[in-house]
Amino acid sequence: MAAEIRLFTCLTDNFGYLIHDPATKATASIDAPEAAPIIKALEREGWTLTDILITHHHHDHVGGVAELKQKYNCRVVAPHDKAARIANVDLRAGQGDVVKVGGLLARVLETPGHTLDHISYVFDSEKALFAADTLFSIGCGRVFEGDYPMMWDSLLKLRALPDDFRLYCGHEYTAANVKFALTVEPDNAALKARAEEVTRLRAANKPTLPTLLGEEKKANVFLRADEPSVAASLRMKGADATAVFGELRERKNKS
Ligand code: ZN
Ligand code: FE
Repeated sequence: MAAEIRLFTCLTDNFGYLIHDPATKATASIDAPEAAPIIKALEREGWTLTDILITHHHHDHVGGVAELKQKYNCRVVAPHDKAARIANVDLRAGQGDVVKVGGLLARVLETPGHTLDHISYVFDSEKALFAADTLFSIGCGRVFEGDYPMMWDSLLKLRALPDDFRLYCGHEYTAANVKFALTVEPDNAALKARAEEVTRLRAANKPTLPTLLGEEKKANVFLRADEPSVAASLRMKGADATAVFGELRERKNKS
């Protein structure tokens, strides 16, 4: 039986995610921005929280962990990088580890750059990627703790996943990302199509996620830093992808 995935808003612009295995009734929350909306979503479905899969140490991803752990006595899985000092952790996960949520398997990819500890979770059987603050729709996370080569490398790891995988990310930033991306690639047809879709979804107060990874590869300029046309648009013809990526990220920071 296929897993069920629920998405809802937490805090201002974070996404909360639940993934539920009907066979075993296990339910994981991907990150825990705050407890209340997660508890509400669980109660609405009649599910019990068994696991929390943390992607990185930022407060808007772990703020609800203590309360949820106390209420459900669930297992807390966190990045293996202990320097990040996440509290209440039961299991540490790093590159290549497989975390079980009931009968579901989550493969761990280390995707540092936004933070040094950042990991992403891939449910291959569900074709689902939870990339938190590494990859956003039409954008990527700010590079706070790592550097541009590190972040570009992380994005390449995610880009290597199949086109029919769905991307679930940490924040609803798509509209702002689209606005910036159009300044670099005003003629990108996939981006223009996504822009229209995002305008429609936001006007209806609907989330812009999940989205297909194959669409992101065509429309997300941050996954396209090695496209000669992107370098040309930045007047960086011949520059390597890392430099182009860094320039994109800096321009976005200032936008
Ligand atoms: Zn973050
Ligand atoms: Fe965040």
